[in-house]
Amino acid sequence: MAKFERYNKYLVLKLEDIENFTNNEQKKWLSRIQYSIRSHRLAHGKKDNSYVVVNEDQPYAEKVWVLIQEQWEREEKERQTTRKCSNCGWEGKESECQFGHNDFYCPSCCQEALEVV
Ligand SMILES: [Zn+2]
Repeated sequence: MAKFERYNKYLVLKLEDIENFTNNEQKKWLSRIQYSIRSHRLAHGKKDNSYVVVNEDQPYAEKVWVLIQEQWEREEKERQTTRKCSNCGWEGKESECQFGHNDFYCPSCCQEALEVV
């Protein structure tokens, strides 16, 4: 089973820093970048997410990392669970499915017929 590793997934900018440390031209560019990313996400069927951000300087940051790791490990266990389709007989793990979904639809016959082996 894969092992959880911490990594940087997001770029976070503090609004107060943007206000105080960028000029008007930089603010315009930042706004254009935001608009471009948001519109492309929506065009690709992705939702407009919002996030909870934790400064790693805070004493509770380590607790948040533990929560993230626990959730990742639960999802990894699901990805590694062998499933079999009761309709067509396909057998495999979610991690092997080329569609990368996390539901119970068979990647071979597309029926909702996957069961844990
Ligand atoms: Zn099937």
